[in-house]
Amino acid sequence: MDTTSRQLFEKACAVIPGGVNSPVRACHNVDSQPLFIAEAHGCRITDVDGHEYVDFVLSWGPMILGHDEPSVTRAVCEAAKRGTSYGAPCPAEVTLAEEVVAAMPSLEMVRMVNSGTEATMSALRLARAATKRDKVLKFVGCYHGHADPFLAAAGSGLATFSIPGTPGVPAAVVADTLLAPYNDIDAVKAIFEQHGASIAAIIVEPVAANMGLVLPKPGFLEGLRAVCDQYGSLLIFDEVITGFRAAFGGAQARFSIDPDLTTFGKIIGGGLPVGAFGGKRRYMELIAPRGGVYQAGTLSGNPLAMAAGIATLRYLKTADYAALEKRTHAFAMELRDILASKGVPIQMPTLASMFCPYFSEQEVTDFATATLCDQALFTTFYKQMRAHGIYLAPSGYETGMVSFVHTDEDFNKALDAARKVIF
Ligand code: PMP
Repeated sequence: MDTTSRQLFEKACAVIPGGVNSPVRACHNVDSQPLFIAEAHGCRITDVDGHEYVDFVLSWGPMILGHDEPSVTRAVCEAAKRGTSYGAPCPAEVTLAEEVVAAMPSLEMVRMVNSGTEATMSALRLARAATKRDKVLKFVGCYHGHADPFLAAAGSGLATFSIPGTPGVPAAVVADTLLAPYNDIDAVKAIFEQHGASIAAIIVEPVAANMGLVLPKPGFLEGLRAVCDQYGSLLIFDEVITGFRAAFGGAQARFSIDPDLTTFGKIIGGGLPVGAFGGKRRYMELIAPRGGVYQAGTLSGNPLAMAAGIATLRYLKTADYAALEKRTHAFAMELRDILASKGVPIQMPTLASMFCPYFSEQEVTDFATATLCDQALFTTFYKQMRAHGIYLAPSGYETGMVSFVHTDEDFNKALDAARKVIF
C-alpha cells in the first residue's frame, strides 16, 4: 500500500474506531490495511494512490451494474437538483415500491428503510406482532445486519473476526434467538417440536452469502416453508444480497418459494443507502400508521436513493441474467482450475453472479464446514491478487460479486493474476 492510503488510514484511526465505518473494511484478518478509494467507474475501482483494480466486491453487492452507470448517475443528479430530502412523500417512492412489488413474486406491499439492518429488524418486529410470539429461528453463519436479536452466531464480520456474539447485547435479547445449522431441516424440525408454538418466524438467507457462498440443498427452503405452515410461523427471506441478484425476482423466484416477508437492501438502492421490507398485505397492513406496529425513518424514501433504485431496476428488468450467470460460472471454474493446479485444496461454489473460493478439500454446506477452510491460504491469495490489481472482499467468509459490465478482459486480468499467485 502506498503513502496516501497509509496516511489516510493513520488519520482515520485517530477519529474513527479502527479507522473504518464497517469492521471488515479494515482488512485486519487478511494481514493488510484498507485501500482508500478515490473513484470507481464500471467494474474498475481506483485508490487514492492511483492504482486501478478490477472490482469483485461491488460495494458488497449493490453495484450489479458497475459503478457510475450513466443512467443511475443521471437519475441521482437530476433528483438532487429537486432537493435532497423532504421528510414527506414523493412520487419516486411510489414508483420504486411498485417496481419492487412487481418484480418479487411474494410481495404485495413494501416499506422503504435505509439499510438492510433496518429491514430485518423491522420484519422481525412485524412477525412477532403478527404471531404474538417472541422467538425467532436463524441459521448459524447467516448474517442479517447488526440489530441485537440477530447477533448470535452470525456470519459476515462476526465470522471474519470469530466473534460469537457481541458485548452490548443483553442475554435476554438473544435468549429468544434459536439457532440451527444451515441446510439441516431435521434440526429445524427438532427445534420446532420443542418450541414451535412460541416461534414467530424463521429468518434465512435463501442463498447464504455471509459465510462465503453456501447454496441451499434441494428441499431445504421447501422444508422451511412447510415447517412454518405447520406451526403458524412466518417465513422471512432475507434477500438483502440475493434480491435482484439470484434472479431479477430474487431467490424466491429462482427457487419458487413463497415467503411471508422479505427483506431487501443493496441493489434496490443502486448504491445509495436503502433497505426495504415487504410481504403479504395481511401482515404489512399491521405497520403504523395503518396498524399499530411502529416503524419510521427521517430519511426513508429519500428522493435520491429512490431515483438510484428506480434507474437500477429499470436497467435490470431487461438485463440478461442467464448470460451473466454463464459467464460468471465459466470464470469461476477457470479460477478454480488454476488454483487446483497449484496444489491447494479448493472449492468454488457459484450461483448467478456470485462465486466463492474456499480453500478446503471438503464441500461447504454450512458454517461448520465453512470454518474448515484454510484462512491462511485465503490471505496469501488475497494479498497477491490485490498486488496484481484484483480487488476481492478481504475475508474468506464473503462472496465474490460480478457485475453486468465485467468484460472478458476483466476476467482474464483476474485469471492472469491468479496464475501468478505463489502459495
Ligand atoms: N442481510 C444480509 C443478508 C446482508 O448481507 C446484510 C449486509 N451485508 C444485511 C442484512 C445488513 O445490511 P446493511 O449492511 O445494509 O445494514
